[in-house]
This record gives sequence, C-alpha cells and structure tokens, in this order.
Amino acid sequence: MKTFCILSALTLLGTCASTRYTTKINNLKNSIVIVDSSLVVNYYKTITATELETQLYQFASDKFEGRETGTKGQKLASNFLKKFYLQEKIPSPFGTDNYYQDIPKSFLPKPYNASENVLAYIKGTEIPNELVIISAHLDHLGIEENGSINLGADDDGSGTVAIMQIAQAFNKAKKEGYGPKRSILFLHLTAEEIGKLGSSFYTKNPVFPLKNTVVNLNIDMIGRVDTMHKENPNYLYIIGADRLSKELHYLSEKVNHSFFNINLDYTYNNEDDVNDFYSRSDHYNFARHNIPVIFYFNGIHDDYHKTSDTPDKIDYPLLEKRSRLIFSTAWQIANQKNRLALDLDNKFLKN
Ligand SMILES: [Zn+2]
Repeated sequence: MKTFCILSALTLLGTCASTRYTTKINNLKNSIVIVDSSLVVNYYKTITATELETQLYQFASDKFEGRETGTKGQKLASNFLKKFYLQEKIPSPFGTDNYYQDIPKSFLPKPYNASENVLAYIKGTEIPNELVIISAHLDHLGIEENGSINLGADDDGSGTVAIMQIAQAFNKAKKEGYGPKRSILFLHLTAEEIGKLGSSFYTKNPVFPLKNTVVNLNIDMIGRVDTMHKENPNYLYIIGADRLSKELHYLSEKVNHSFFNINLDYTYNNEDDVNDFYSRSDHYNFARHNIPVIFYFNGIHDDYHKTSDTPDKIDYPLLEKRSRLIFSTAWQIANQKNRLALDLDNKFLKN
C-alpha cells in the first residue's frame, strides 16, 4: 500500500513536471513575434534565381581552379568576393578597403600557403555591438592529378552566392532606411575543406567579441536535392538549431511557416546520427564557444567532392527559396526586440 502511494505521488509529480515543461515551451514559442513582415518580403524578393545563377557560374568557373586553400585560384576567388563588396559599397569591418582577415602559413598544415577569410559588414542601427554572423566557406578541393577541376558549385559555391545575395538585400534595406538593428557580418571562410581552419582562426582571433556574437547561420551546400527528397525537393536539412537555444529552433520554424513552408528536415540533427554533420562544417567552431548555430544543408549527393559538382546541376529556384529563408531568419534575429537567448539564460525555460 505504501509503495503504491509513493508510486502514485511520483507519477503525479512526473505529469506535473512535464506539463510545466510543455507550458514553458509554449510560452517561449508564443513570445516569438515575427517583425517587419512586409519589409522582409520586399527585400527577400531581391534575392533572385537569375542573380544567384550568374554569380555561381562565375564563382564555380575554371578560372578559380577549384579554390584550394592558399593557391592562386583561391586568391582569385577571394578577390572576386572583395570586388563584389567594393562594387556594392558594402563595407569591410576594418573600415578600410581591406576585406581580408589574413591567416598565416604557420596556422595551416603543410604544404598549404597563407590564406584569408573575406569579411563584409553592415553596422546595426540600434544595438551595433550585438552581431549576427552569416558564413559559408570559399575554398574547395582544387585540381585533380589528371588536371580536372573540382568546381565545387554546390560545395560551397551555393552558400557563397547565397551570402552575396543576402548581403545585397540587407544593404539595399539599409540604404532605404531599414538597416538592421543589430550588426551583420558576412563571413566567407577559407580552409574549411582541410579541417574547418578558417572558422577556427576566426574564433581564435575574432574581429568582434564572441560574447557579443548572437548567432552563426552557416550555409554549406544548399543548391541540390539528395536522393531522399527526389519526390519532394521543397526541403532543407536544419542542423544544430536547438542544441544551445530552443528560441533559435522555434524562431527558425516560425519564420519558415510565416513566409516559405519549406519542409525543414531534422534527420541529421539527431545527436545519435552516425554522419555527425553537426561537427562537420564551420558552425561547429562557433557552437564550441557557446554561440547558437544553424547549419543549412541539402545533404550528400552523387557529385559530392567530385569534379562533377558543376553549376549546371544546381536547382536555382530552390537555391533562391532557401537563400530567402536564411535572409529572413537573419532579419528576425537582427531586428527582434530581445537578443536571441541561450537556453541557460532563457526566462521562459527557468523555473
Ligand atoms: Zn562544404
């Protein structure tokens, strides 16, 4: 009898606790209010499949010789990005015509030569010390021994041109009086393919304090469709969003439902997933510093890390839609009233 009572009490307690957790999560979800809906639509529409395609055919062209870290081709690719930001009048965070964060040869393994991350920046209008980072890697695998070039159109030409278009959209908004409240850093990272070393260097030598870095939205391969989604290509894998900040997870979902209705696939977010994609691109170096991240990813396809990853195989309307989602998510984080909260600090999740 006694045992029964204790068990009942425990069951009751358990029920109460889980109800309370559900309530907390509901309160958290309800606290996320989508900001500036009509402005977001106006500006995400400036991100177009046509421009993404034009830029990707240039960035993933033979001219850049597969963009292997420290090579002539990679330097040309960095210069291509720098020229774009200069032409668009999107400033460097250094306040000069220098858009490079130089990475010395000594930081990289042999035989790689010195390289650089490429950075552009839009200063926030109201809370400039808080920073949203949108990143993608600019490097790839270079030239094969037989002379064929790894163009890396999806990996990560797709993320690179997405950032260029997102930066252009934020800059247009700023010019028209709707600059982001928080600052935004457009971070093109080098040396990802040789061990995520561009992001490792940045997080060891941050241009803005990591404690003021609100989020890292990292894009690595968003222009293709994997075999799992051939029947319904309206999808995107979301990895990492809920690991440090449930607010980020629900915010990402709410932005998507408000504007796009892409099927956000969490298969690879499972902590037991054998692929462990969570640790396999640049966002991981930010997450290690307790910065909430989202890794946007289309999954692996037959041309992954092959010379057949070419720009003609990219689904440009899909790349447009996914880029618009990332832009809108960044807009929300940069402009909402509260700083995106870590779960540890989230008032809705506290007792
Ligand atoms: Zn990649």
